[in-house]
Amino acid sequence: MSVQYLDTDITYLKGVGPKRADVLNKELGVFKFGDLLSVFPFRYVDRTKFYKIRDIKSDLPFIQLKGTIVSIETLGKPRQKRLVALFKDDTGMVELVWFRGISWIRSGLRPNTEYIVFGRPNVYKGKVNIPHPEMDPANEKSSTTASSLQAVYPSTEKLTAKGLNSKGIGNLLKELMSGMQESFPEPLSDSILKTASLTSKKTALINIHFPKNPAQLNKAQYRLKFEELFFIQLRLLMMRDSKKRNIRGFPFLKVGELFNKFYKDVLPFELTGAQKRVVKEIRDDIGSGKQMNRLLQGDVGSGKTLVALMSMLIALDNDYQACMMAPTEILANQHFKTISQMIEPLGIKVALLTGSTKTAKRKELHAALESGEINILLGTHALIEDKVKFGNLGMVIIDEQHRFGVAQRARLWKKSKGNPPHILIMTATPIPRTLAMTLYGDLDVSIIDELPPGRKDIKTIHRYDSSRLKVFGFMKEEIKKGRQIYVVYPLIQESEKLDYKDLMDGYESISREFPIPEYQISIVHGKMKSDVKEFEMQRFVSGKTQIMVATNVIEVGVDVANATVMVLESAERFGLSQLHQLRGRVGRGAEQSYCILMTDGKLTGNGKLRMETMVHTNDGFEIAEVDMKLRGPGDLEGTQQSGTLELKIADIVRDGQIIQYAREIATKTLEKDPMLKSSSNSRVANHLAALNKHHKDWSQIS
Ligand code: ADP
Ligand code: MG
Repeated sequence: MSVQYLDTDITYLKGVGPKRADVLNKELGVFKFGDLLSVFPFRYVDRTKFYKIRDIKSDLPFIQLKGTIVSIETLGKPRQKRLVALFKDDTGMVELVWFRGISWIRSGLRPNTEYIVFGRPNVYKGKVNIPHPEMDPANEKSSTTASSLQAVYPSTEKLTAKGLNSKGIGNLLKELMSGMQESFPEPLSDSILKTASLTSKKTALINIHFPKNPAQLNKAQYRLKFEELFFIQLRLLMMRDSKKRNIRGFPFLKVGELFNKFYKDVLPFELTGAQKRVVKEIRDDIGSGKQMNRLLQGDVGSGKTLVALMSMLIALDNDYQACMMAPTEILANQHFKTISQMIEPLGIKVALLTGSTKTAKRKELHAALESGEINILLGTHALIEDKVKFGNLGMVIIDEQHRFGVAQRARLWKKSKGNPPHILIMTATPIPRTLAMTLYGDLDVSIIDELPPGRKDIKTIHRYDSSRLKVFGFMKEEIKKGRQIYVVYPLIQESEKLDYKDLMDGYESISREFPIPEYQISIVHGKMKSDVKEFEMQRFVSGKTQIMVATNVIEVGVDVANATVMVLESAERFGLSQLHQLRGRVGRGAEQSYCILMTDGKLTGNGKLRMETMVHTNDGFEIAEVDMKLRGPGDLEGTQQSGTLELKIADIVRDGQIIQYAREIATKTLEKDPMLKSSSNSRVANHLAALNKHHKDWSQIS
């Protein structure tokens, strides 16, 4: 089979007329022979195994039964007719049901004849039935049952209506394969095939569709997954390398006075090993003459802000300005406060720009930025407005990147003259390693995987609403010790009204339980004016109030070292990474801190697992792994706008090892042949070019 064969229009395949071609186009994106070959089965059924009717449960996947039809009836009102066949084996009876094509199907069914029935059980009004099963007379040695593993293909109602259910798609593939000739385009090089012990593309394709045994199937799946992931990694690595080759960056050669003075005289503690390592990674980057594009991952409280500050000081030491952008005003204010304090002895000019900066002040700022009088600008989205111009911006820090879109980041790029500024993106929402490799594969990644010394692990406890009084008692004890407490309610956009009611009800009951003047309570939520919010926050930060009742607006960054208890109400309504973020608000001081997860008694399996995970670990990376497994990668923050996750066969959650291996092989391939110019890599280069043409959006990631 040649490239031409694969490029043949699908209408030329026997069994495909214009109508079927149309639905194949629309439902499966199949236009050519080659497209059909990569419609992969999503599961396989062992067609040598038969289920007994007595063992059928409603939650079973596809099953196969052998038995006879006892009766056939058409039931229901004229417009809601259904065909029901009663099917029995030696253990019981089950109904087979059809809603479409009734008369045609009925004419083909023979009572008292043995059939092999293949389908997926369903429950209707408490009774199990099998809707639209495939029926093969048992005596007919049909070719589909020749191989023990039968592929099940994704189908849709529209496909099924054109006879393209799983079996129909399988038949088309059989037709396609029978036209296959000797040669087949192999996209991987001989040396990769050998190093990774992969079967050829042709063998893999035959065996993925028509496996004879599980071992063959495994090899085929592995080969195709590897190929898919390899080309993704190859492309990302080439993009990263080409940025490095082509985009010059300001060479920050000096680690000068400010950095050294801060490090030696001002910094009140030793850097952790991880912080030292990351600072070195950053220094190497920005000293190289290339633009830095680095992602810094680290759990809440791991000391990322400090690393950011030190990076900014290097920029200043090289006579450039730096800026840092935070996702919320509260957080920007806080950065401003801590950073101003820390660098006070250095005599640097730091400014704050947010949405609430007054116009007069803003004008002043704009001028001072252009003249270079301001060294470091901190702020929110307000930083990326076009009016904000820098004299010579050399370093951009983006805190909590998942809240900024790609386009917003691009606007920051343009704010410096000549070369683009160095960019450090920080996130406290750890992304599992393998996902980071795929999503941010064109960025360099640094990880802070160590907390500053002396931190006590936060004790996490799961309590049911029924023990609320005990929880109140515990809160009182902590307050007596002089500590402060957060009580957080979920705020999910879809049910905003109900959520506010929950919040206000909660606030009332806490106010009753913790009466003034003995206790003081702050409340903060998204519907408050920002000055009122700020006032309430300040009362809590300064210790005037002991309890802060809030919605998840306080999620990001707020730092009150004296707060030791985080009570999360309706905890089951938060996602894992959010629970972890919120928990990170406590445990910032020297005292033992607690996180109490409040739920009602009715938890789903998924909810229970989230609570258990929180109770059992404080490790953000471990939590991210579980989160990804529970929600699937598409729901993780930051992944939505990316096209990279539309994988045909590999699974980003389950195939982590293959991702890692594919990246390794891609790295080695490029080390030897960076532009894929050698003849031994020509197949790889051609295939990559074809993929790039196909995926126009591939060039826009990150
Ligand atoms: P992140 O931004 O990663 O959430 P921060 O930089 O805000 O973390 O650091 C959290 C707290 O830990 C801050 O109060 C900071 O001063 C402190 N801190 C950071 N690095 C260290 C260190 N090496 N030793 C002791 N305390 C540290
Ligand atoms: Mg931070």
